[in-house]
Amino acid sequence: MHCPFCRHGDSRVIDSRTTDDGTAIRRRRQCPECGRRFTTVETASLSVVKRSGATEPFSRQKVLVGVRKACQGRPVTEDQLALLAQRVEESVRATGSAEVDAHEVGLAVLEPLRELDEVAYLRFASVYQAFNSLEDFEAAITLLRAEREATGREPAHLLGGTAYHAGMPHTTSGALAGSAGPGTRLGAGPGVRPGAGPGATPVTPH
Ligand SMILES: [Zn+2]
Repeated sequence: MHCPFCRHGDSRVIDSRTTDDGTAIRRRRQCPECGRRFTTVETASLSVVKRSGATEPFSRQKVLVGVRKACQGRPVTEDQLALLAQRVEESVRATGSAEVDAHEVGLAVLEPLRELDEVAYLRFASVYQAFNSLEDFEAAITLLRAEREATGREPAHLLGGTAYHAGMPHTTSGALAGSAGPGTRLGAGPGVRPGAGPGATPVTPH
């Protein structure tokens, strides 16, 4: 492989190790000409089988485009989208197979998208699962509600109090971060980064 710095036509592998999950190999290489080092990553190529039967290389970019469309007008950042696309690729690759159905890629999007934004999730699911009646939406919303109730108890437990839930039954973690003033944030300890969460007030020392 040629050197990405000086374009010399050859490079030497000086170290080679498998990533923790075993799905890739990282190679440290050195250019004999300029002496600089760089890393290459080797992964199995992953093909997506489309409904037509044609195959194409898996593209994180394509996942991103589809999800971004579903998230239009929603409070979702590009960083969150990129992270979601990365999670989708990881979960598809984790199947260990070199070829997956386009359908499986869509399935892998649903779960992380639901965690990110329920409205975007419904949009995506309605296209992907070809909703064609109000009943389809109703069923999906009923399922969302049921799952929200099932998981809704956890944050209350983690907060260790009932104050938030008594007054704000619909609080999301984002709203919680926003409602805490700078004073609260300072007292929250090193685990909480200033500026974390939407609507956070930057803490500036005087
Ligand atoms: Zn070089």
